[in-house]
Amino acid sequence: MLGLGIDIGAGSIKSGVFDETGTILEETRENTHAKMKNAEFQKAILSSASPLLKKYEVTGIGVGSPGPIDNEKGIIHSSANLPLLDAFPIKEILERETGIQTKLNNDANCASLGEYFFGPGAGSSNLFVFTLGTGLGGGWIQNGFLYNGFQGNGMEVGHTTIIKDGALCGCGKRGCAESYFSATGLMNRYFDRTNQKANSVAEVFQLANDGDSHALDTIYEGTEVLAETARNIVNLLNVDTIVFVGGLIKSWSLFGEHLETRIRSQVFPILADRLKIFHGENQAILGAGSLVLEGMNPNRSKI
Ligand SMILES: [Zn+2]
Repeated sequence: MLGLGIDIGAGSIKSGVFDETGTILEETRENTHAKMKNAEFQKAILSSASPLLKKYEVTGIGVGSPGPIDNEKGIIHSSANLPLLDAFPIKEILERETGIQTKLNNDANCASLGEYFFGPGAGSSNLFVFTLGTGLGGGWIQNGFLYNGFQGNGMEVGHTTIIKDGALCGCGKRGCAESYFSATGLMNRYFDRTNQKANSVAEVFQLANDGDSHALDTIYEGTEVLAETARNIVNLLNVDTIVFVGGLIKSWSLFGEHLETRIRSQVFPILADRLKIFHGENQAILGAGSLVLEGMNPNRSKI
């Protein structure tokens, strides 16, 4: 039995057929661009999924997309990468065109569900996942079910206030966690210190690796903020497992130990003792596809 995961990312749509062990049997990629409107985007989604659906018999389709979305109706309202999308009814279109049941959720929620089924914290009864990428996202899985909040937009942990009146965030408010620990946040905070623009967050990490004190300070500050954010989550939700995923994990050696130590020293001891902390690569197709599995036992999952 197989499922289809569709990840709508920055600049492309990736679709993949996977089995219950988390093996991706085949995947496709369709490029997207910022000027795409609904009709053109619909064509791209169908060209991405159709070749796979012709070849494999899948039981369900899961779609992950940046928000804002409506997971109940299966609508992508718009997206930072696809600003001209207008209330795109992806669930209705895919179900009509393929006859296969389809679920939609935001990309961080999908990443979290993917970790619940296939990541190092698989099967945890109370799991929180932080996605460390362009932004800072989060998702909470309790007993195999996602916490959705309003229409699937819950757990925007990156936009919780950690530093009152702190640095300006992309959301327009100040002091959000994301404005200190995310690719964008780290680059902006490095700029604050040096008046020099890094071309990428990889450059900030490379500078830190080379001993640049401003880059090291930026990462130190970001890690402290991320640890405070995790502390809030652990004390609030009493999660037993945290997994950090996303592109910034590549540089885990520059902040991971500090992060873990700070989290463990900050949360209530009774919670710290049972807390497991992992980091791993985010597999976006599997995350989206995991929507097909939601509510099943990861040790006995059958699509
Ligand atoms: Zn914000």
